Amino acid sequence: MNIIDTHCHIYLKEFKNDIDAVIKRAEDEGVQQFYLPAIDSTCIDSMLKLEENYPGKCIPMMGLHPCSVNENYKDELKIAEQWLAKRKFVAVGEIGLDFYWDKTFTTQQYDAFRIQIEWALHYNIPIVIHTRNAMQETIDVVKEYPGKGLRGIFHCFSGDEKNAKEIIGEGFYLGIGGVITYKNAGLAEVLEKIDLQYMVLETDSPYLTPVPFRGKRNESSYLKYVIEKLALVKNTTIENVAEITTANAQKIFGA
Ligand SMILES: [Zn+2]
Repeated sequence: MNIIDTHCHIYLKEFKNDIDAVIKRAEDEGVQQFYLPAIDSTCIDSMLKLEENYPGKCIPMMGLHPCSVNENYKDELKIAEQWLAKRKFVAVGEIGLDFYWDKTFTTQQYDAFRIQIEWALHYNIPIVIHTRNAMQETIDVVKEYPGKGLRGIFHCFSGDEKNAKEIIGEGFYLGIGGVITYKNAGLAEVLEKIDLQYMVLETDSPYLTPVPFRGKRNESSYLKYVIEKLALVKNTTIENVAEITTANAQKIFGA
């Protein structure tokens, strides 16, 4: 099987001691590629180091996470912007709006989001969106760019059917991860009504670990549990889930 983890932070310190084993375990489960969303300037070195060790396998993005938007966000944006000008990245991410943890910098989050969308349009690459407690607000920002070729993934999708259809209608894909295995999340019921054609797989490692390892560190080999659950929800085989979601990811990232 050829599976793609479209969203994992396996360059973080949580993996410092066993990253090679983590990648090996994932490969043993069929995971062939790992897309690495940036968070802020503190993670760029370790992210690019991982790419250097696994070229073509660990693939970095560039961007400023909404939770890292604070009074210094213009400086942070400058760093990301310089990197994008310096070399090729497959996507601008992860970017978006997060009103869950802190609403102090709401205005700045909107500004950073729109500035980074402009970069993606300029380089003609997709965006990877993080949204929390801000689903409709995020969709509304995306809708400000009709016909401009804006595209990408709503990472860790956990909205309702209406949100899903609106996102798909804008030409975006849904990133599906461990949340699908959480009983109370209601995501499985939503995805029953959405075609696999609009989904990609992700772990968000080390976060959002699927059942049965919920609460522990997440890693890409656990995509196995996400695929199993998604196959069940869509009443199909795990091979079919892998094939369709991998083709979707390749289309998005131009691989
Ligand atoms: Zn993430």
